[in-house]
Amino acid sequence: MIDSHCHLDLLENPKQLLSENGLSGVITVGTTPPGARAALALCAELERVWAVVGLHPNEVEADGAAARAELEELVQHPSVVGIGEAGLDDHWGREQHEAQLSSLLWQLDLAGRTHKTCVLHIRDGEDDRASRSCAEVLRDKKPERAVLHCFNGHPALLEVALELGYFLGFAGNLTYKSAGRLREVAASAPLDRLLLETDSPYLSPVPHRGQPNRPGLARLTLQRLSELRGIAEAELEIQMDHNAERAYALVG
Ligand SMILES: [Zn+2]
Repeated sequence: MIDSHCHLDLLENPKQLLSENGLSGVITVGTTPPGARAALALCAELERVWAVVGLHPNEVEADGAAARAELEELVQHPSVVGIGEAGLDDHWGREQHEAQLSSLLWQLDLAGRTHKTCVLHIRDGEDDRASRSCAEVLRDKKPERAVLHCFNGHPALLEVALELGYFLGFAGNLTYKSAGRLREVAASAPLDRLLLETDSPYLSPVPHRGQPNRPGLARLTLQRLSELRGIAEAELEIQMDHNAERAYALVG
């Protein structure tokens, strides 16, 4: 079982956590230049760990010529399979919107130049402008491969993702009582576009909600998805791993 999106550098004893619940691989995301360096150090130390590196929309104060130059260099590393997470996040307001957009466009361009997967983080605030703007950007820029990490279920994003062949990541919030819309999408979207992720240490699935998440708990999201799809867990696990390998062009 592959956890296609977590933040190993934010977890205690990451090495120990990687033997839990039949995990067979992990993609760890470094969301700042220091986070990217930490992700690459973990790739060097541990088997079957790959990295996604970039600038998170809530970290754009770190954006600038030096950060971009460093990330441009780090993404050349063979363990780096994706760029991001980049995107728009209105949860804390719209003050950073222009900076987030600029950072997103740069990271889409970088993903294009390096032929790596673009990982998107999209979070709406009081309205759905972040989702709608991101859908427009995707339609306009058409990255080669993209993942809508922790997919929010927005119809415009779903439409563009299905049209352009992008992947939809589902994390532990799929198990939350309030996640009806998300479960509907997870139950009906094409099976070959779904990805299993944890976003550890965030978004722990029920019954661990409120505690730090870990990659092995992807098993609980997988079980929920197996119920929703009416597909046996073992069979679904093979499909999800295959999807992660395609989404990130994983080798080894
Ligand atoms: Zn994340």
